[in-house]
This record gives sequence, structure tokens and C-alpha cells, in this order.
Amino acid sequence: MILAQGSERVPTGRALLVAQNRQLFVTFTTEKMTSSILVTGGAGFIGSHTCVALAAAGYTPVILDNLGNSDIRVLERLARISGSAPRFIEGDVRDRALLDRVFAEQPIAGVIHFAGLKAVGDSVADPLTYYDNNVNGSFVLAAAMKAAGVRTLIFSSSATVYGDPDSSPIPEHAALRPANPYGRSKLMVEQALGDLQRSDATWRIALLRYFNPVGAHESGLIGEHPQGKPNNLMPFVCQVAVGLRDKLSVHGGDYPTPDGTGVRDYVHVMDLAEGHVAALKHAEKQPGLTTLNLGTGEGASVLEVVKAFERASGQRIACEIGPRRPGDVPAYWGDPALALATLGWRARRGLDQMCADSWRWQQGNPRGYEPR
Ligand code: NAD
Ligand code: UDP
Repeated sequence: MILAQGSERVPTGRALLVAQNRQLFVTFTTEKMTSSILVTGGAGFIGSHTCVALAAAGYTPVILDNLGNSDIRVLERLARISGSAPRFIEGDVRDRALLDRVFAEQPIAGVIHFAGLKAVGDSVADPLTYYDNNVNGSFVLAAAMKAAGVRTLIFSSSATVYGDPDSSPIPEHAALRPANPYGRSKLMVEQALGDLQRSDATWRIALLRYFNPVGAHESGLIGEHPQGKPNNLMPFVCQVAVGLRDKLSVHGGDYPTPDGTGVRDYVHVMDLAEGHVAALKHAEKQPGLTTLNLGTGEGASVLEVVKAFERASGQRIACEIGPRRPGDVPAYWGDPALALATLGWRARRGLDQMCADSWRWQQGNPRGYEPR
């Protein structure tokens, strides 16, 4: 059966109603009906874990990724976890002709949009590249969705839109004052998608503000493998534990926090992945615009993370307290109450499990998806 662009299919048990050119056809099928979800950036860290959660929830993920910060070998790992590899399209989210072909070739029920660049320092050094990839990329995608009649969009935003908050836990209605081009690129997309939804109330959009995603799938088959020297705490700690780096430099020991080190809301990447599925199901129920924090609601300091990692791995993590990192906020964590009330979602995995799963991934894959 070939479905033309703009047609809709409605699963009704074994019968399938196909609306094409305003005529209804009934087709009988033995295929299990699942909704295909386009996952831009699905080969990356959070995207790959979300593909696992989507498959577990009965969706069919279709990945579009330019592999700029990911590795094609993730597909084979996803097949081992989920039983089959997602369909993969190598390409750029800014390529409108490609997106039009993707939407025309298969019925996509919704899009989870992860594709983007995420290094704060790089965004300061090269803002135009960030605005092109993150903002323009999102605009091209939304325009292609509009043309194809796909109106369900889950967008990867970030707690970085809050900048240095007045207090924690941070609710969604807190002031938005991102402190760098990366954060501003996320806020611009949030605002544009808000305008889009107000212009056409049939859109179903969720803006998800993640706090600090860490951890890995419990199988140890997929995880985060930053290129070059890691900027983020957990991958750095993992690399010290596995012997790739000598010691962790703690960026500041004189913050006004209980132990003087920076405090963040670390959230397990599988909890985050499940949050996306919950947001998708919520969007399927009703049109609208939903903005939600995804975090645990609890802060952990750098030294608490190090101690938890030492407990989980049995490895000693050598640390040296160094100067503060320019631009760092001393402490913040999110208020996840609205996500619980709206989606029924809450983070279930604690810091010990985040560390244990990160360590399993790192130990089994010291060079990421490269063969050992
Ligand atoms: P990641 O780099 O591992 O994944 C992003 C993926 O998108 C990569 O596979 C990359 O190759 C792909 N990509 C980038 N630009 C693309 C383009 N123009 N076209 C097609 N593919 C493209 O990053 P991640 O940690 O999985 O983050 C996913 C999303 O979540 C990003 O939008 C990021 O800004 C956001 N986010 C991440 C964090 C975090 O700490 N990891 C926190 C908040 C928000
Ligand atoms: N951090 C650190 N050493 C590192 C990397 C990070 O001490 O090598 C600290 C950082 O100063 C912050 C916390 O760990 O207090 C989390 O930093 P990360 O870069 O992972 O997240 P973000 O600052 O973007 O929230």
C-alpha cells in the first residue's frame, strides 16, 4: 500500500481506513500498526535513548541525523536493545528537499527534534553556526511539517534558558535570561514555536527544558561519548575512572553551596527518554503548547557526584579543586511538579543508578562505538 502525501491512516484493528483525495478506502492488513515518529538527531546521546523508549512504547522511530556528533554504529546497538534497528536517514535538518521527501515517503505521526549543537563555549566563539543549526534548522523543520500536515512536535529545549535563576527549584514561569548564544538559540526556537501554535491552534507542541542529562541505558550498549576533551562533568569523571584522564579538575570550590562546589539537577537519560514518550502521548491527546521542565527536582554538588561515582564503580576519582569556570552558575535545580501534573512523569532513577549506568557504558566502551 502506498500512501500519498497528506493522506491519513487510522488503525482500526485489522482494518485500515485510508483517506486519500477525500475518498475512504478500507484495506485489510495483518501488520501491527504503529505510529512512525521522526527523531531528528536520533543517533545522538539523548535521541538514541529516546528511540529505545519509543520502541518500548510501541512507536516506530525513524532517525534523521547528519552524524556531525554521533556514530552510525549506534544503530546496531539499538537493534540489539530493541530487536530491530530504526530506519535511518543520513542528512541535515536544514535540507528542506530531504525533509519533504521523508514526509512524503512515509506517514510520520509526529517529530521529536533533538538535532542541534550544544557546546556553550563553541556557541560564544561561533554564534552564527549555532543560530543556523539550532534556529534555522528548527524553522526549516517546522515549515516542512506544516507543508506535510504533521502538527505534533516535541522540542529539545534546555534549562539554560533560565540563565542564572533568582532561586531554585526553578518553575517554568521563572524569568528567561539565557547567558550565551546556545541558550538564546533555544529560547528563540521556543518563542517561534509558541507563535506558530498561536497562529494555528491545531499544532501540538511540547517544549521540554532538560536539566543535566547523564547516565546510559542499563544494557551498557548505548551512552554518551563526547568527541575530544569532555566539557561536562559525568563524561569527564567516567574518563578519569577508566584511566583516559589523570584527574578531575573541580571548577571552583568556593561557591555558596554546602561543600563549595557547583550544584546541578542531574537526570538519568532514560528518565528523560521516557519523558519524551509521555510528552508525545500527551500531545496526541489534545492540541496546544506545553512547556515543561524535565529534571529530578534535586540538586547534587560536584563532590557528591564524585562520591556517588566512586561508590558505583569502586574506582577512586582523583580530584583537584581549580578555579571557577567562567560563566558557570553556582547552583540550580528544576521544579518538576508541572511535568508530573501534566504528563504523570517523574524521574525514577537516582544518582547512584546514573553513576552505575554511566560506568557500565564507559567500562564496556572506553572508546565509545569504536571497537575496543
Ligand atoms: P548530541 O550531540 O549527542 O545529539 C545531537 C544529534 O543531532 C547528533 O547526533 C548530531 O549529529 C545531530 N545533529 C546536529 N545538527 C544536526 C543537523 N543540522 N541535522 C541533522 N542532525 C544534526 O546531543 P544530545 O546531548 O543528545 O542533545 C540533544 C538535544 O538536546 C540538543 O538539541 C541539545 O541542545 C539538547 N539538550 C542537551 C542537553 C545535554 O546536556 N546533553 C541539555 C539540554 C538540552
Ligand atoms: N564541572 C567540573 N569539572 C568539569 C566539568 C564540570 O567541576 O570538568 C562542574 C561545573 O562547574 C558544574 C557541574 O560540574 O558545576 C556541571 O557541569 P556541566 O558542564 O556538566 O553542566 P552545566 O554546567 O552545563 O550545567
